[in-house]
Amino acid sequence: MLTKNNFKCDRFCGKCCMNLAIRVAKDEINKIKRLGFEEKDFLERDLIDESKFILQKKENGHCIFLKKSRKGMYSCGIYKNRPRICQKYPFFGNKPLESCYPEDLYPEQFFSFKAGKFAANNQYLFK
Ligand code: SF4
Ligand code: SF4
Repeated sequence: MLTKNNFKCDRFCGKCCMNLAIRVAKDEINKIKRLGFEEKDFLERDLIDESKFILQKKENGHCIFLKKSRKGMYSCGIYKNRPRICQKYPFFGNKPLESCYPEDLYPEQFFSFKAGKFAANNQYLFK
């Protein structure tokens, strides 16, 4: 079982950074801007709640900051400044987990998202 204490992502599969919406708060946006990025290049309005923002996604649905190495491993391009939600993942509580893959943790939402359909509630894996 995975717990907060023993978990270490060492697989670089990038699954949790693909096809998911990452909501970001103002201070997190400012942190990313201080790295030299402009809002228009990484931010978009959250269509579910237009007062909020999410990180842009590439055409393939991957987070705009997800990078793939020549060896096919994925990593975060703003790792040290990544949003809190990304830092917490996959633990949003103290419950031990069997898997950190989004399709195991949130199968319903994951497949809705993959199909381009957003559930009325709880449409994001990351909140
Ligand atoms: S899904 Fe799990 S193993 Fe894959 S990158 Fe995310 S945390 Fe790491
Ligand atoms: S900001 Fe980094 S850690 Fe968060 S989803 Fe994007 S690539 Fe993954």
